[in-house]
Amino acid sequence: MHAEIISIGTELLMGETVDTNSSYLGAELAKLGIGLRWATKVGDDPDLLFEVLDRAWRRSDVTLTTGGLGPTSDDLTRETTARVLDEEMVVQDELLEHLKGLFAGRGTPMPDTNIKQATLIQSADAIPNPLGTAPGWWVERGGSILVAMPGPPRELTRMWTCEVAPRLKQHNPGVAIVTRTLKTFGISEGGLDQMLTPLFQAANPNLGIYSKEDGIHLRAIATAETEDEARTLIEPMEAEIRRIIGDDAIWGEDDETAISQVASLLTGRRQTLGIMECFTGGLLASNLADAPRAAEFLKGSLVVNGAGVLAAQGVDARVVEEFGPASAEVAEAMAEAARRRFDADVGIGVTGLVTDPTPTSGPLGTSHIGFSIDGRTASTSGRYPTQRLRIRGRAVTHTLLELIQFLRRS
Ligand code: AMP
Ligand code: MG
Repeated sequence: MHAEIISIGTELLMGETVDTNSSYLGAELAKLGIGLRWATKVGDDPDLLFEVLDRAWRRSDVTLTTGGLGPTSDDLTRETTARVLDEEMVVQDELLEHLKGLFAGRGTPMPDTNIKQATLIQSADAIPNPLGTAPGWWVERGGSILVAMPGPPRELTRMWTCEVAPRLKQHNPGVAIVTRTLKTFGISEGGLDQMLTPLFQAANPNLGIYSKEDGIHLRAIATAETEDEARTLIEPMEAEIRRIIGDDAIWGEDDETAISQVASLLTGRRQTLGIMECFTGGLLASNLADAPRAAEFLKGSLVVNGAGVLAAQGVDARVVEEFGPASAEVAEAMAEAARRRFDADVGIGVTGLVTDPTPTSGPLGTSHIGFSIDGRTASTSGRYPTQRLRIRGRAVTHTLLELIQFLRRS
């Protein structure tokens, strides 16, 4: 079974919106064992859209479209699909009632332009979309499938996971793909490659190595007739990787992020966190505030700048004087001060140089990260010789990964 994706919208061609939907769907199709042959972007032009839809319908087993399901005159996916299949669009009473109900709930009358969102052609079923007004279309005729999904990524991913993927899976039985990603820390890409050389030679599961912002990821992908069989293939490889590189070098798996790991470690241990950040300018707290159950562990963060402020916030002025504000010693003192200040279990201090390098504290883009727990402190430093905004982001990721290691060891 092979598929084709069509991303619809002039904004995608103009570079205003990045076509993330086709990347998402590409990764998802791989999980279902459905080969993706083509991905096309096309603007909101009826004739050009007809051309690509018609071609896809004739040459692909499965055509997936995203976008163009809105109520406005430039949203043409329904009309064009009807034209390609030479079928009539008919308003469905049930869909129309549902749509009117949505507008009534918002307290506004439904504009007539929305009526087309309540239509279907004979070969189509409506796919529910609880996150928006546009239902999708599942079209099936003569062994070919076309699925029209909404453009907004939130609506698309929900519709895909809850409705479309399970249904497509039934059409492509006997192929199960299971992937396992191990996210590592502290060993270089070359180092991992060398340690795992024999494993990279296996065909199934196939092992890949990817350098990401949050460390080096190892991804095993196994194909079998059932998910259980695929999992049975992956398990020994995972065990072997863990044996060779050590559990300490693995900070997370699959969808886990540095943020979600920190959140689960802290909430699991019922520990709280206080932060004092200079280098990252509040970005660390801002990222952590998005974590699941952040309110349970994040007690607060102080965004500080300059020696005078550090002293006023409880950082020993003599340490600042002796080592300079951008130093490992001050990062530890900041962590300790943050822990006390917020009456938290764990303190973090981040300092460093985004601007104004001085000979003593290292080059621009050097950060110092301090941790404090139970009266003990530790620190580490990182260098990110890149643009200003990215430097802060990298420092945040680095801080979170170091925090994971620090918490696991304490
Ligand atoms: P539409 O379904 O055409 O009304 O799309 C609504 C919105 O979804 C657009 O304004 C974009 O912000 C977003 N969108 C549409 N297509 C894509 C895509 N391929 N990737 C990411 N976002 C998209
Ligand atoms: Mg559009």
